[in-house]
Amino acid sequence: MDTANKETILTESIIRDGATLVSINKQTINFTCKCGKNHTKQKSAICKTSGAFCKDCTDRNTQIKRIKAKIVLNANLLAQQAT
Ligand SMILES: [Zn+2]
Repeated sequence: MDTANKETILTESIIRDGATLVSINKQTINFTCKCGKNHTKQKSAICKTSGAFCKDCTDRNTQIKRIKAKIVLNANLLAQQAT
């Protein structure tokens, strides 16, 4: 991934995730999460996976994803229920 592209993805992630950019460093960026917490994160982590969220929000997002997957799984199981 070239640098210019990476910066674009970073900026888009910050806008999309409702965060406010504080400063960009070489490997990390410092931002205010939409919950109001200040957080520093690896640039690559924001681009590749978790978005511009603080640790608490990332943990919550992960749990929500897990619950959503479970709901789908349960719905599938219920659909297969013998009548
Ligand atoms: Zn947060």
